[in-house]
Amino acid sequence: MHTFDQQHIWHPYAKVPNSVPPHLVESADGVYLTLAGGKRVIDGMSSWWATIHGYNHPVLNQAVNKQLTKMSHVMFGGLTHQPAIDLAKTLIEITPDNLTKVFFTDSGSIAVEVAFKMSIQYWHNKHQPNKQKFITIRGGYHGDSFGAMSVCDPDNGMHHLFNDILTQQYFVKSPSMVAMDEALADLEQTLIKNAHSIAAMILEPVVQSAGGMRIYNPQYLIKAKALCKQHKVLFILDEIATGFGRTGELFALEYVDIEPDILCLGKALTGGYMTLAATLTSDKVATSVATLMHGPTFMANPLACAVANASIELLLNQPWQDNIARIEKHFYTHLSPLSQNEKVDNVRILGAIGVIEMADEIDIQKVQNQLIENGVWLRPYGKLLYTMPAFIITDEELLTLTKAIKTVVKCWE
Ligand SMILES: *Cc1c(COP(=O)(O)O)cnc(C)c1O
Repeated sequence: MHTFDQQHIWHPYAKVPNSVPPHLVESADGVYLTLAGGKRVIDGMSSWWATIHGYNHPVLNQAVNKQLTKMSHVMFGGLTHQPAIDLAKTLIEITPDNLTKVFFTDSGSIAVEVAFKMSIQYWHNKHQPNKQKFITIRGGYHGDSFGAMSVCDPDNGMHHLFNDILTQQYFVKSPSMVAMDEALADLEQTLIKNAHSIAAMILEPVVQSAGGMRIYNPQYLIKAKALCKQHKVLFILDEIATGFGRTGELFALEYVDIEPDILCLGKALTGGYMTLAATLTSDKVATSVATLMHGPTFMANPLACAVANASIELLLNQPWQDNIARIEKHFYTHLSPLSQNEKVDNVRILGAIGVIEMADEIDIQKVQNQLIENGVWLRPYGKLLYTMPAFIITDEELLTLTKAIKTVVKCWE
């Protein structure tokens, strides 16, 4: 069956026909994926940060089923519904106090596009129509649509392919790669020269996700935001990967209690059940944005909003912080020692995120097969072997996960 897939269907960042056939998943439950043939593996990826409560969760299933009997979808132009209203209320309540307006989209990339439109429209209506560019730090990832792509890391992103069509944005040194003062000095210099053409800065707070899985000092956020304010540049935080507990705080911005002008959420928003994202902003920004020029067909899909409401409630009604601390402690105990291995460059851990950066490129297919033999699903890329499991993962399952990681790192050639 997956030969058809291999021949005809594109997968993320892959060719068709694909040189590596994908694994067929029959079902998923808790932290486990059941592959065709019956092999069960622990999903160490949470389907890319999303399934924080695990698969096939009774509470989330019930929320979807309940909403399904009312309506699965209705257009959002001129109409509204309770799941969207409830979700907006909750998001406003759990995010920083200044954020009071919500725009729902169908994916993280589009949440970023909307943040960009908000920023450009804001300055346009403030009679500064030249402020249309964006500034970011290197090593970031913000999505695959053209606007979002233009602020992904220019070296490991796809910039060279789309050079002529991508807007040239401003990239400054990342606090995850150089000393914080050096990164801030670069930001300040670039703002002094170019702020007249810059609408906003966009950052993934504390953890840079798919751009390299790097972690940086949250203090950078406070200083970067102050510089942006001084130079009249809006401050966007992209918490699409870091949001909903992953880093040990509900949102990574809480490490320094910072209020962004615009906040992007996605991925774990629905507990990984379906695609939904949101862009939040303040009264001040919304007032100047006026009519926002965006409106997707599946905006605020009721099924997605209903399951998001259930997922957030489920998260907040449990001692999730203790749980993330438990996972983090396990990673420190079991993954940190790998940094002694000569094939390992370094190990990085924060909250329920564990990253092993190898000295050399990983043979993905080989490593993936070894991991599956050891009962684990991970999706390494480049030199990075990393995991961000569902928060419900038990200590025993964590042991299986980290043991598999240790096994493959040790038998590296
Ligand atoms: C995944 C991700 C996106 C893009 O979200 P999609 O839903 O894949 O479009 C944007 N920003 C960050 C930080 C992400 O991790």
